[in-house]
Amino acid sequence: MILYKLQCKKGHEFEAWFASSDAFDRQKKKGQLACPSCGTKSVSKALMTPNVTPRSRRKAAAPDKQQPTGSRKPETQRPETQRPEAQRPDTQRPEAQRPETQRVAAHSELVTALRKLRAEIEGKSEYVGARFPEEARKIHYEEVPARGIHGEATAEEAKALKDEGIEFYPLPILPEDQN
Ligand SMILES: [Zn+2]
Repeated sequence: MILYKLQCKKGHEFEAWFASSDAFDRQKKKGQLACPSCGTKSVSKALMTPNVTPRSRRKAAAPDKQQPTGSRKPETQRPETQRPEAQRPDTQRPEAQRPETQRVAAHSELVTALRKLRAEIEGKSEYVGARFPEEARKIHYEEVPARGIHGEATAEEAKALKDEGIEFYPLPILPEDQN
């Protein structure tokens, strides 16, 4: 049995047991999976990516919180905004795409930012699938040079990584992901 950390397209996280990785795929295909919070069947395994700052440099690293000011709390879950120095994007946003009301603006900009962040992580990091915990650990303990990776972890593996002080966060789920 595998306990997977799952995420729906609205960002609700939950956990579920499966006989195997294949069982997850089969059940998803048959529409047997649904988010317990909102009922959507657009559910996927939460992809994880580590904060690759090696231990020796961690003390110098400051948290990078970029919460939009003056906006209401978005309905989608706010993702962690920490990410490796090397992957921090230049901020360029076309003015023309700014919607009118602040609330819509906040949401639209959030999605745009998430899309950009995710594209960057996926573009610059290696997909390691189920080897994620192993690879994240190697990078953390500096057995291999730091690099960007993303992949899957079971809830149990995720907890073990956290217990070891290995930082990682789920990749943002985008509205178009599950269509
Ligand atoms: Zn949901």
